[in-house]
Amino acid sequence: MGEFQPGDHSSGPTGLPGRRSLLAAAAGLAMTGLAACAQQPVAAPAPRPATVSTPVAEEVGQLPVVPETAPPSRSQVVAEFSGRKPVEWGLAVAGVVAKTASTHAVLTFDACGGPQGSACDQPLLKTLRKLNVPATLFVNGRWIKANPGLAAELAADPLFELGNHGYRHQPLSVNGRSAYGIPGTANAGEVYDEIMGNQEVMERLCGKAPRFFRAGTAYYDDVAAAITNALGLVPVSFTVNGDGGATFPAPTVAGEVGKIAAGHGAGQIVISHFNQPAGGTAEGYARALPGLLDRGVTFARLGDTLPL
Ligand SMILES: [Zn+2]
Repeated sequence: MGEFQPGDHSSGPTGLPGRRSLLAAAAGLAMTGLAACAQQPVAAPAPRPATVSTPVAEEVGQLPVVPETAPPSRSQVVAEFSGRKPVEWGLAVAGVVAKTASTHAVLTFDACGGPQGSACDQPLLKTLRKLNVPATLFVNGRWIKANPGLAAELAADPLFELGNHGYRHQPLSVNGRSAYGIPGTANAGEVYDEIMGNQEVMERLCGKAPRFFRAGTAYYDDVAAAITNALGLVPVSFTVNGDGGATFPAPTVAGEVGKIAAGHGAGQIVISHFNQPAGGTAEGYARALPGLLDRGVTFARLGDTLPL
């Protein structure tokens, strides 16, 4: 567990007061390829034991007792959601956050893991740190397994907020629908495993549970999105596809990310990747960000734009 101690890797920047920037709003869902996110899943996590706390009855004349909250157990999720049939499937379904009410833009970068997805784009992180631009990093369980020290370092860096990108990197479905050729989770129990398998890893890593979840490929059905919310996480999609699954060349990345300047970035959630250093993502952001900052676009981590 020592390698997961955030305090062992405190190399992040200090003093973050000026890090929020402003935004711009052009939306435009560039749906092209989140395929870099498209790697085959590995073995499923072991089922999680039931950990639900029993609510404490409030007694007359006493202050209310707030019970410790715990997510529902796997069996509770299966019992509650197995009978429900999804009516939506995609990147923007009921219950999934794709945009915020904030005046800031949110940059999100995924690390999908797997044989072709477990590297780290250090030049990209260097640019974010140099410009003091905060970001939310969605990390998959396979990526964490391949990079435990780096994951702990990122968890300890206040410039970044870590989100849950799933245990096996699967589209989140209750009936096995697939996206980009990747089979989705097959039922409510597998949805639970995909979320909570990585949640447990990240709790150990960060010392606290992530608030946000992005499914592998960012595809959900509405029942799976409801399960995510029931487990205490906010399912997240995006409004701007910054790097096309890390397939865009740098000029295209710069152009897509640069679109948020039109509305000062307000409320936009931009998706890109920080696990494909051979792609054009880092260079594209290095080109786009100085101009966005000059134009008054401000940035914040997702958790700063969605208060509890
Ligand atoms: Zn991914």
